[in-house]
Amino acid sequence: MRADSVVSLDGQWMVPPYADAHTHSPDGLFGFDGIRDMYLTEGVFYVQVLANHRTGRKALAGKVNAPGSIDVVFSDGAITSTGGHPHVLYEALAMFRTPGGTPEQRQRAARSLSQDGDVYHRLDSLAQLPALVTRLRRDTVPLMKVMLVDADNVAALATDTAAVGMRGLSAAVLKPLVDSAHAMGRRVWAHVETARDFELALDAGVDGFAHAPGYGAAFDTDSTLGRLRLSDAVAARAGARHVFVIPTLGLSRDITARDSAARRRTQDITVANVRLLQRAGARILTGSDTYSSAEAIRNDVAALQDALTLTPLDVLRLRAIDTPRAIFPTRMIGALSPTHEASFLALRCNPILDVSCQGQITQRLKQGEWLSLAPKPGAAAQSR
Ligand SMILES: [Zn+2]
Repeated sequence: MRADSVVSLDGQWMVPPYADAHTHSPDGLFGFDGIRDMYLTEGVFYVQVLANHRTGRKALAGKVNAPGSIDVVFSDGAITSTGGHPHVLYEALAMFRTPGGTPEQRQRAARSLSQDGDVYHRLDSLAQLPALVTRLRRDTVPLMKVMLVDADNVAALATDTAAVGMRGLSAAVLKPLVDSAHAMGRRVWAHVETARDFELALDAGVDGFAHAPGYGAAFDTDSTLGRLRLSDAVAARAGARHVFVIPTLGLSRDITARDSAARRRTQDITVANVRLLQRAGARILTGSDTYSSAEAIRNDVAALQDALTLTPLDVLRLRAIDTPRAIFPTRMIGALSPTHEASFLALRCNPILDVSCQGQITQRLKQGEWLSLAPKPGAAAQSR
């Protein structure tokens, strides 16, 4: 590689671009330009979408992973059980424009299959696995998202009308599904709710966790808090495999703002889980779990900084090295070097002395091209 031009960045600080490892956008052309510009404005060049419409991904062909745009990996539809999460959520959104709705609306959403095979796939028994694999093989996406929601109790949840939309895969289908994903060359990310879900997914061989147990859990009362707490032994096994964990702590930070003491105790357990996993050797990543929100991206970084007592340099590593490389493991990114892609952010002040400097981006270079973004209100806002 040869330099073809020289520019002065005198007095500025260069860092590799940032990443977001758990999002649900972009997903289709709706609002795409704004979503792309939001990420680029925040310095986020690398985006991992953990559940999207297959049709949404196809509509974006040529618009992402292209010069001047964000680089995105998609999982396509999440794998869950009939009437589970996110089957009911996406059907309810399509039918009633709300992810929740009344119990009656959720029942109706659970009977609708208008988006089956697009934003979710159903796997209720092992006998259905070969047909599912055949369907998934139409596409060459690098990821699979699998849903665990209190997996040990999935049979009881299936007959509980109050739990419509709040269940996922059974433990029995999980390991064969993960093995099939790996045979297709897909990395598997698990949605987990409880510590037992985490253990089941770990033992099934998933590559990463889309949440830490207890993330923002709104439903747990003191009597069930214990089921969210990871044991030292499970954390040690996760650490020994250096699995990826996207804690999505920014979500619980949002909830705490309008909080009760019980929710704070839930959050304390989640934070303890994340600390335990990090100490054991798991690889922690930032992910906002957003449909497109600059604030959610900043919230997650700030929440991880608080929870793990990160220095500004640690925060920079998380955003600019660890998370980008986890999303694109074969690319030469996450460093400023002649052997790496010519992508960086120029910052107004020193990001290692002051973490807020990481949000003060003056210029953006992606693969050798300067990005020009329309100035927007709040575009220069600090990361915390
Ligand atoms: Zn999510």
